[in-house]
Amino acid sequence: MIRISHQRVKCIGCNYCVEVAPSNWVMDENDGKSTLLEAKEKKGIYIAITSDDDFENNVEAASVCPVNIIKVEKI
Ligand code: SF4
Repeated sequence: MIRISHQRVKCIGCNYCVEVAPSNWVMDENDGKSTLLEAKEKKGIYIAITSDDDFENNVEAASVCPVNIIKVEKI
């Protein structure tokens, strides 16, 4: 399993995470930020626990995020 985290308040809505990991990310048209699917919010950080299959795409999402607010780790 992997843990993905998203410091959503700092998201600038560039859409890169959605492009490289569309099974985990969608854009929220209401506020123009991305949303991490199936995430729970804790102290402003959105966290999703998901399959190892999502690891590579989300490592890429973390690396392309221009404001460096995505973290991915194996758990
Ligand atoms: S790549 Fe980063 S800044 Fe861009 S939409 Fe995703 S979380 Fe937001």
